[in-house]
Amino acid sequence: MKTISIVVPMFNEESNVEPFFAVLQQSLAAQAGQYDFEYLCINDGSRDATLDRLLALKRGGLAIKIINFSRNFGKEAALTAGLDFAQGDAVIPIDADLQHPPDKIPEMLRLWEQGHAVVQARRTDRRHETLRKRGFSHAFYRLASAIFEMPMERDVGDFRLMDRKVVDAIRNMREKSRFMKGIFVWPGFEAVVIEYDVAPRHQGQSSFGFWKLCRFAVDGITSFSILPLRLSTYLGLLVSLLAIGYGLYILCKTVLLGVDVPGYASLMIVVLFLAGVQLVGIGVLGEYVGKIYQEVKNRPIYVVRDVF
Ligand code: UDP
Ligand code: MG
Repeated sequence: MKTISIVVPMFNEESNVEPFFAVLQQSLAAQAGQYDFEYLCINDGSRDATLDRLLALKRGGLAIKIINFSRNFGKEAALTAGLDFAQGDAVIPIDADLQHPPDKIPEMLRLWEQGHAVVQARRTDRRHETLRKRGFSHAFYRLASAIFEMPMERDVGDFRLMDRKVVDAIRNMREKSRFMKGIFVWPGFEAVVIEYDVAPRHQGQSSFGFWKLCRFAVDGITSFSILPLRLSTYLGLLVSLLAIGYGLYILCKTVLLGVDVPGYASLMIVVLFLAGVQLVGIGVLGEYVGKIYQEVKNRPIYVVRDVF
């Protein structure tokens, strides 16, 4: 019998644990005889009773594996641990807040059986997400698919099915700055896309606020593209050309019409503009130097405290 690993990252999801597993088991009931399901929960340093709830479910007879982190490492690290520990022939990461509908899993399995190594799930109806988040994510996917060297499907999040071959490829990617949406796509393999409607969060609050999303977007882009570096070079060239033009103009003017002392405004504008451009350039450079710093430190991506 083939094993399917369901990987669930959990951070402060105490009130979602039971409802999630109830819905999950119900959705998979028809497949239960056909596959061995491995439920793998990663408790990402929750500060509430998530772990107790999981242990209670386990004591109640539900076969779940629990990876308990030593602190909060973030969703990307939790997913990484999930892929490291998963033993299934296919792996499906899914959110614990029921925003990813488990009843799409049978369809994913069907497509996998037809030979697709990856089944991506695209959010179609995002009406339950805030307008700001929708706008932000729309802009991000546009930008990402324009600059990444690999095709990134718009609105495809972490909810997907991956064959063992894909998971093994991903497990070899040990970079420290982990933008999973990109990492998932990088190995390639033929993918199909199915669609789903995003449900509202079952209980609790999203841990991705506006600033965290901004950070996440910058991280994602700088992890997968050096276009910002190249753009800052081009911007530097453009500004230098403008400066040469303006310099020649001032030179000619001074030679032909004599010294022109007033010029405070133009001086200030040029100085401030150049300083701004330089700071942006240094900032972009800094992002990448920071990335290199993180990589060379070579710290583990997560630390496991216990495995139940
Ligand atoms: N999550 C996690 N670690 C974190 C933040 C979130 O494991 O530091 C999990 C969370 O428990 C949930 C999933 O990642 O299962 C998605 O999180 P959330 O619902 O907060 O994000 P959103 O749906 O708003 O993108
Ligand atoms: Mg959510």
